[in-house]
Amino acid sequence: MCGIVGYIGDRNVYDVLIKGLHRLEYRGYDSAGVALETPEGNINVYKARGKVANLEAFCKDKNLDASCGIAHTRWATHGEPSDSNAHPHFSEDKKLALVHNGTIENYKVLKDALIKHGCKFHSETDTEVLVQLIEYIRLKNDCDLIDAVREALHQVQGAYAIAVIECGHPEQIVAARKSSPLVIGIGKNEFFLASDATPIVEYTKDVVYVKDEQIAVVRRGEPLKLVTLENEEADIDVTELEFSISQLEKGGYPHFMLKEIFEQPSTLLDCIRGRVVEGGHKIVLNGVRDNKEKFLNAKRIVIVACGTSWHAGLIGKYLLQEMCGLPVVVEYASEFRYNNPVINSDDIVIAISQSGETADTLAAIEIARDKGAFVYGISNVVGSSIPRCTHSGTYIHVGPEIGVASTKAFTGQVMVLTLLALAVGELRGTVSREELEKCGEWIQKIPGLVREVLKLNDKIERLSAIYTYARNFLYLGRGYNYPTALEGALKLKEISYIHAEGYPAAEMKHGPIALIDAEMPSVIIAPDDHLYEKVVSNVQQVKARGGSIIAIVTEGDDIISKIADYVLEVPKVPEFLTPIITSIPLQLLSYYIAINKGKDVDMPRNLAKSVTVE
Ligand code: GLU
Repeated sequence: MCGIVGYIGDRNVYDVLIKGLHRLEYRGYDSAGVALETPEGNINVYKARGKVANLEAFCKDKNLDASCGIAHTRWATHGEPSDSNAHPHFSEDKKLALVHNGTIENYKVLKDALIKHGCKFHSETDTEVLVQLIEYIRLKNDCDLIDAVREALHQVQGAYAIAVIECGHPEQIVAARKSSPLVIGIGKNEFFLASDATPIVEYTKDVVYVKDEQIAVVRRGEPLKLVTLENEEADIDVTELEFSISQLEKGGYPHFMLKEIFEQPSTLLDCIRGRVVEGGHKIVLNGVRDNKEKFLNAKRIVIVACGTSWHAGLIGKYLLQEMCGLPVVVEYASEFRYNNPVINSDDIVIAISQSGETADTLAAIEIARDKGAFVYGISNVVGSSIPRCTHSGTYIHVGPEIGVASTKAFTGQVMVLTLLALAVGELRGTVSREELEKCGEWIQKIPGLVREVLKLNDKIERLSAIYTYARNFLYLGRGYNYPTALEGALKLKEISYIHAEGYPAAEMKHGPIALIDAEMPSVIIAPDDHLYEKVVSNVQQVKARGGSIIAIVTEGDDIISKIADYVLEVPKVPEFLTPIITSIPLQLLSYYIAINKGKDVDMPRNLAKSVTVE
């Protein structure tokens, strides 16, 4: 989590940094700060608790003259959100200022040792330990900043993306990464550093993704230099960014989340473009085509993911089991990494992460690779860590997702899993040509059908007013729509802070039914599928206990519509495509309830978009 920005060049340094922080604010927003180095080589640090806007207000009457600078928007891991814990952190002698994304696991041992050497600490963060350590080494070894950073990074365990500036060196920024992302933008006589490319794209499309355990040295008037922790010079691979600045703006919507919900017809089209071809009769996934043997010989699929991606993974299980006849297990990446996973070389591990930087998922991938599995990544961010450390994979191609609560990335992930299941099913002979063609034709209709579903917007906005003050919600669904229920509940929790639980509808009678009364609404996802009759009985059980029901049903439904208090009708699609269609009204319902409650839907409290810490 957290966002780092750095700039060296002839533009107004402060303006570039603040704009960059705004773009990265989705990654963390409990405090923010900048360190500006004046052309004379003095460093001024300004920090403020809360969002970037507070920092801007704080900086109004400050000296903002700078030749280079670094900035940070924080998602606290060590020490509460406060002015003193905000980054950048100074070394004791105020010669170095540093920003950090990640966690230093052995910070306590290092801190104790530094205290013994006379260092004084002014924050509770692990980050301050790092800057003090670098300065301690620099003075003790009488070496330059780069060597001191190298030496210090050898001593730390954990995850970091850092940027450091040094008094008297306004021409230079030193940065490094391990497990937390860091991108460098190369402009004309200028460099940008950031946690992702969003603060960079408006200035240059040429970026370099710094690799683990590399140190980047950016100096005014010199080419970028990368060295490893072993002090070997590393190659510089320049990548061209594929997205544009307009994709990062709200486009007339009041919030990114609403914009992203409404973008889904086009993002789903982008997701299937070039993959569902020949009128829907052919599915081309390069990751499957290039690794036929792996998919033919696979005995099992293990899906690892977190949060919303885990819910997409659960839908993936239903898809892959139905279409490929392969056993599939879905694991939380954070548990997988510590539960002694039994992984064989004929397993395929599918890792799903919107950002491609999720720390737990990255750790799970490493374990799976070590155990000889073939690892397939599904991610949104081109060039992020997961696509780079998996054997193969598929991008969801839904464009940058800024709203912290995932919407278009979820439907993109489900779509990619659908294509994957069909492509692998065809390869393994469990999906016939005829079936594949029928499915492909339906998939092509999905973007248009999602557009139809979005017409429920006004109705859902009105409906949301009735439920704004509910304190608890139950979300129920079966089969493909059990994970949709989980996702619906998560969405509501994330942005409205209402307690919501998702359950397989039939599981309700084993416990949660005890909660039902007039004050506990249930959202029941009941499209016309092979479990419909069963869900009808679940709906009746809720009704019999006085519960209020909002049901998502297929157009023309005449059973549940008579029992439920409110129904939202969605178009009929084959069962395997229902989660994409039914999740849209759930996204809108959460959005409007949160808006009615006056919550900040794009930046909900305590959350961050890209979970790059464990
Ligand atoms: N561990 C650091 C802190 O708590 C950095 C957290 C972050 O990535 O924002 O300050």
